[in-house]
Amino acid sequence: MKKEPLSPESRDSAFKEQVLKTPAGEKIQTCMQCGICVGSCPVSHEMDHSPRELVRMVQLGLKREVLSSNTIWICTTCFSCSVRCPRGIHPTELMEMLKPIAIAEGIKNKNIKFDNVFSDVIKNNGRASEFLLISKYSLTEPGMIKQLPFGLSMMAKGKIPLSIDRMENTRELDAIFKLGEKTWEPKKESKETEEKDKQPEQNKPGDTELAEGAKK
Ligand code: SF4
Ligand code: SF4
Repeated sequence: MKKEPLSPESRDSAFKEQVLKTPAGEKIQTCMQCGICVGSCPVSHEMDHSPRELVRMVQLGLKREVLSSNTIWICTTCFSCSVRCPRGIHPTELMEMLKPIAIAEGIKNKNIKFDNVFSDVIKNNGRASEFLLISKYSLTEPGMIKQLPFGLSMMAKGKIPLSIDRMENTRELDAIFKLGEKTWEPKKESKETEEKDKQPEQNKPGDTELAEGAKK
């Protein structure tokens, strides 16, 4: 993946301090750039900056580059890097901690799509559904059409259940989402504008329609 050159002039010491104060950031200064996290990462080839680079960028306080990096959205939270880091640094938790900061800063990234779909499914149903996740994500990501034959064969073999399991009482879950939205309310003006989701929300079928359509 082609990388843009970093601009050290954009160092932001307040951002660095903000990250270092968190549990995910407390050991970041001890990173020795060994690269074990990169060697352990199953998706580093898709990232514009590897976990090792991201840690270094945080050390340098490169706020704009860190928060606009696709790395924090590509990470699958598999924890391989956190388990193997010889310095006890937790890149996984670092990624998760940076996401709400990027949202609050109004920094958009096209790789946020899956996180948005996942959160919508949980918000609406209280539980994850592989079928809904795949269907809804496919509507936002045209490239997923290539996976259609594979998805259909998995459904035919019963590997992707079509039934949607819903939580009976979502009152506490609603409260958690409201609290999160209030805490990390995005800024009105976005600093980094990347591709926006081109699929109009009103054209997307609802959860029930998707499930019914697949059963036909
Ligand atoms: S494994 Fe740990 S010490 Fe090594 S580069 Fe990654 S974060 Fe730094
Ligand atoms: S937790 Fe994220 S960054 Fe770490 S190895 Fe897994 S995918 Fe890569």
